[in-house]
Amino acid sequence: MSRFFSEKYSALVPYTPGEQPKNMEYVKLNTNESPYMPSNNVYDAVKKEAEKLHLYSDPQASVITEKIANRYGVSKDMVLVTNGSDEVLNFAFMAYGDKEREMLFPNITYGFYTVFADLNGVKYREVPLKDDFTIDINDYIGKNTTIVIANPNAPTGIALSRDQIEEIVKSNPNNVVIIDEAYVDFGAESCVDLVHKYENLLVTMTFSKSRSMAGARIGFGIGSKAIINDLNTIKYSTNPYNVNRISQVAGACAIDDDNYYMDNCKKIIEAREYTKSELEKLGFFVLDSRANFLFAKSDKISGEELYLKLKENGVLVRHFTSEKIKDFNRITIGTKEQMDIFLGKTKEILEAKK
Ligand SMILES: *Cc1c(COP(=O)(O)O)cnc(C)c1O
Repeated sequence: MSRFFSEKYSALVPYTPGEQPKNMEYVKLNTNESPYMPSNNVYDAVKKEAEKLHLYSDPQASVITEKIANRYGVSKDMVLVTNGSDEVLNFAFMAYGDKEREMLFPNITYGFYTVFADLNGVKYREVPLKDDFTIDINDYIGKNTTIVIANPNAPTGIALSRDQIEEIVKSNPNNVVIIDEAYVDFGAESCVDLVHKYENLLVTMTFSKSRSMAGARIGFGIGSKAIINDLNTIKYSTNPYNVNRISQVAGACAIDDDNYYMDNCKKIIEAREYTKSELEKLGFFVLDSRANFLFAKSDKISGEELYLKLKENGVLVRHFTSEKIKDFNRITIGTKEQMDIFLGKTKEILEAKK
């Protein structure tokens, strides 16, 4: 830290992204990217748009915003497109976080929430999951405070039902409930249609996982006009051109090619269920995932040792060191072929320990 750094950030512990190794080719199952390429139309559109890079991007991101609105059955003024969903989440922490009243989210969830809270001086409380890693919705009913829930949750992959989400939203009418649906396309129930019924609901989604565009940085929020209006106030006070030209057209194409991406999700779900049952045959305990990853542990090997040995063998998974989840690894679901490599290496590692 330099002696010039503002005191208000001096204690900030930034988010640690998963490794993006450049030294060798891994079977990369550590950051929940899609194993599938973007659809063909994306390439042509991006190439054409490159000719206009001397011009600012559309601050309203009109084309992609309209396509998202149609896809999700809402009006354009209920959608905000952002630079990854991390950005809309940060905007929401800025807009709805409070210095005194504790914002609530689970103690095991997306690691960025505590960072956004600390960055923005937001007070928060991390609510423990139940012993089976599920969320007890009673912890969030009638709390009169801002709530953030990833559904499905990460890194557990466990989902709440739309009805359970509705109970939480309905019981906190004077506060915003943020539902982070980054992984919803992999088999959970979306609550996005509830934005018509509840003006305090903000749903966030991303093109990074189910739409094969982690590198394009496109996310969006869907909520009542009033909420989207608030978030626009913050956007236009920080970075009006938050989504670049290339990403705007790439994302618009991806919505046009929705069937391609939703078919890929089906393949990933199949590969997930296959991998889960194979891991269980190897004696792993695997949580019930509705996401494009599995969260699994074995009593034959520690989470850290398995992570390190897989890495030596060219397979990268995500290991978290926090006490409550250090026995586990989070394994992104790739293609069936990639999962067979992962399973084969895991089996070899376990056998070598006998
Ligand atoms: C990946 C992820 C995000 C955001 O990803 P972006 O790439 O910024 O869109 C948000 N929430 C959760 C739970 C995630 O796993």
